[in-house]
Amino acid sequence: MNRIRFGTAGQSESFAAMGYKTSLDVPEYTAKFGLHAFEYQCGHGVRLGEEKAREMARRAQERDILFSLHAPYFISMSSLNEETRLRSVDYILQSCRVVRALGGRRVIFHSGSCGKQSREQALEKALDTMEKIVRAVDEAGYGDLTLCPETMGKIGQLGTLDEVLTLCQVDKRITPCIDFGHLNARTLGGIKGRAEYEEILDRMEDVLGDERAKAFHVHFSRIEYSAGGEKQHHTFADTQWGPEPEPLLRLCKERQLSPVIICESAGTQAEDARTMQLYYESLF
Ligand SMILES: [Zn+2]
Repeated sequence: MNRIRFGTAGQSESFAAMGYKTSLDVPEYTAKFGLHAFEYQCGHGVRLGEEKAREMARRAQERDILFSLHAPYFISMSSLNEETRLRSVDYILQSCRVVRALGGRRVIFHSGSCGKQSREQALEKALDTMEKIVRAVDEAGYGDLTLCPETMGKIGQLGTLDEVLTLCQVDKRITPCIDFGHLNARTLGGIKGRAEYEEILDRMEDVLGDERAKAFHVHFSRIEYSAGGEKQHHTFADTQWGPEPEPLLRLCKERQLSPVIICESAGTQAEDARTMQLYYESLF
């Protein structure tokens, strides 16, 4: 069986309900669901101390759980304000420091809004910021870590599949985070089934043409959308919103892909990640 790590974005509602209290309990909780990945959320700032992170890493390693880290939402790689744009570099460096202490490798980030400029101009700015980020990350000694720009759910945000793949071309280590719920939301329900998943996977293979098209990063949840794209995340029980996970998981098996799949359901991440994992295992 090709190895896919399934895991959760942050703590589910059941974490507290099961009596767990601190982030130190995350590895034990994650293991209870049979999961092997956990994306630590630093969306509102990187506040996790390194000592605590190292203890979390120790407990995770015992259970074969791999951390990734979601960088702050303040990152704005295309900002027209130079100071704001360049601060994106600092947020990534802070994230690298903590993900290293967590024993993880991947830093996932949003490139930000396009703002009052064309998509082309926004992408051009983001590419320049990306180059600065790569340089700063290498200089700080984090060159072994993996930067993962994410596909975004709102149409006004930089983060179509092609925009993310263009950012990945700045350096061969940059690996896409494909948020299929976001792609479905920004195309107003464009992922209808197997054919659309195949198109996305083929496009990654065409543009990247290397291991990154197999061992990419995934965010998965059912997401409500309106005219502007993403509105809110739902759970697997809210089946009126797509996309459907099964065709993607079948393709992962057929093509022998080995992504890390992080479930971002609203409150039932661990339960829904487990559902995906059980379905995937049932294919073998
Ligand atoms: Zn995200």
